[in-house]
Amino acid sequence: RRAEFAAIRNLPPTTRDGLRTTLMVNAGLAEDAAGLDLSGADGIGLFRTEFQFLVSAALPGRDAQYRLYRQVLEAAGERPVVFRTVDIGGDKALPYLSDTRDEAENPAMGWRALRLSLDRTALMKAQARALIEAAEGRTLRVMFPMISEPWEYEEARSLFEAQVEWVAKRKGVPSRIEFGAMLEVPSLAEMLDQLLPRIDFLSIGTNDLTQFLFAADRADPRLALRYDWLSPAILRFLKRVANQANAAGVPVRVCGEMGGRPLEAMALIGLGITNFSITPAAVGPVKAMIRSLDAAAIRAKVELLLAKPPRDMRKTLTDWARRHNV
Ligand code: PEP
Ligand code: MG
Repeated sequence: RRAEFAAIRNLPPTTRDGLRTTLMVNAGLAEDAAGLDLSGADGIGLFRTEFQFLVSAALPGRDAQYRLYRQVLEAAGERPVVFRTVDIGGDKALPYLSDTRDEAENPAMGWRALRLSLDRTALMKAQARALIEAAEGRTLRVMFPMISEPWEYEEARSLFEAQVEWVAKRKGVPSRIEFGAMLEVPSLAEMLDQLLPRIDFLSIGTNDLTQFLFAADRADPRLALRYDWLSPAILRFLKRVANQANAAGVPVRVCGEMGGRPLEAMALIGLGITNFSITPAAVGPVKAMIRSLDAAAIRAKVELLLAKPPRDMRKTLTDWARRHNV
């Protein structure tokens, strides 16, 4: 199948009935950007900036951050890169930041990501300036992780905008900035009417979202078989979110591992989600699925299945895919 994936590397991820989807990759290292040509992806939909922090022996300074971001943007060229501000804390403790080393009982639900960034504004400001300077003259795309309520997004955005003003007095700034929110905490879904008018894009982190929706630790193998990305609860949840975002004209992307599995990606297209950021190795298999899919047919099928969910959604969708040569 590898030859098959290589053969479609330079072909677009367009369905049989002409729907152009977007396939981007998740990344975290400078080398990942260099690999963009290899995967034939449309860009980087999730750049996990915390990787640099996790592999460093000391807190990476603004210059080190700037150099990395610049390198990634240069390698990506015309293709978009979405930088996520650091998701540290919780189980991603940093040895050189003492207050991230506490032993929280539920680190995933703890003081991490944007929660930490909003409390440690010096860290956030340094990162904002590094990003703003690195994207001088081009579009900067930035998103915030683990937002539970719209005020957190507003605070992060204001902080960023203040840094744009600061940098602008000294040097060049991005020609445009797009701000996005990650939806990975279920409470945010209840506040979308407030959030959507304020964001340029929404990125659904299905890894964390699933664990919080099901109250099931994503890292505990004993729970792995107890819930499924294709369960009706997740699909219904995502459908409501996608409908609301689509109605508001806000682009939605799925950047969790769910989108990197062909059957799951097929179901997501059935929900009206057509933009994915996935692990580079999944681009070939997901693109092959998309190019064999009739988007209108899967939409109609998923609509029926969600109205009256079968006992085994996975099996039902697998059978459907097989019957339709997907
Ligand atoms: C997610 O939670 O789905 C996500 C993309 O972020 P991470 O996997 O880095 O937590
Ligand atoms: Mg996450």
